[in-house]
Amino acid sequence: MKRQEPMKIKYISEFGLIKRVNNKVPALKNAVLGIGDDCAVINYTKNKYLLSTMDMLIEGVHFDLRKFGAFKVGRKALAVSLSDIAAMGGIPKYCLISLGVPEDMPVKVVDDFYAGFLKLAKEYGVELVGGDTNRSDKLICDVCVIGEVKKENLVLRSEAKIGDIIFITGCLGGSIYGKHLDFTPRLMEAKILTKNFRINSMIDISDGLAGDLKRILEESKVGAVIAQEKIPLSKYALNCDSALYDGEDYELLFTASEKEARKVVENFKKFSGTRLTPIGKIMPKKFGFRVIEKDTNRVVPVEKKGFEHF
Ligand code: ADP
Ligand code: MG
Repeated sequence: MKRQEPMKIKYISEFGLIKRVNNKVPALKNAVLGIGDDCAVINYTKNKYLLSTMDMLIEGVHFDLRKFGAFKVGRKALAVSLSDIAAMGGIPKYCLISLGVPEDMPVKVVDDFYAGFLKLAKEYGVELVGGDTNRSDKLICDVCVIGEVKKENLVLRSEAKIGDIIFITGCLGGSIYGKHLDFTPRLMEAKILTKNFRINSMIDISDGLAGDLKRILEESKVGAVIAQEKIPLSKYALNCDSALYDGEDYELLFTASEKEARKVVENFKKFSGTRLTPIGKIMPKKFGFRVIEKDTNRVVPVEKKGFEHF
């Protein structure tokens, strides 16, 4: 009898794997929100929740040390998690870092890595409070950031409403040719948005606009239409598809009711010079997720996926 091949990870995809884990996790008793958003949300004080998020970077998968330099990699290792705290409307407070290091790696590389990491931590008032160290074949870093958010400022992926206007901060596309190493986590913008406006849903764009908007749509059980023409392209973007499908932009994608969106457009610029652009609208779930193509004006389903590890 022919032995059946075991089901492999690559066939169930990154999100299939996370879903599989989530299905096995018992219902939460003390945490407010577990797997499924940019951060976990945990009861904390009367007025605040605790936020926590983890992100891992692996040499050869996420970065090339010789090309990028350890300082920038260290900075990015923290910046990606700060971006997740921003996506919940929170403020980062503490971090921990686990390192896997090759034994013949020059000490200077690790020193440079920490110089980049700690410089950014200082800029945002984040305290490094621990971690773990192991030997590994390649440099691996896994960073946990703990933050807090006023209960009224918490924004989830799951609260987008039909009729909401969809916004993005900054410009998108081609991040891999530059921006992904020194992007500014949008903590200031998130703070302004959540303090002054009613934001219904938010995510940071790490895996591409199309893929990450899809996560808001799935969690909120709605559809959407976006106009390709309206999406501001980064100077690195190769074409307008770059803005939809390239990863690592680390901009914010958020939605607000039409009335609130008007206030955002009128007033956000009083607080910050960061570009904010309305790019589409939340639709009923049965509409699906469609894009108005730039050149043809055709309204077509968004089929391609964002970045997944497998
Ligand atoms: P982000 O891109 O915002 O960092 P991810 O796509 O990495 O988010 O993760 C989506 C959700 O799945 C998050 O809530 C994250 O904590 C959770 N998650 C990811 N990987 C695992 C895992 N191996 N086990 C448990 N939860 C996970
Ligand atoms: Mg995120």
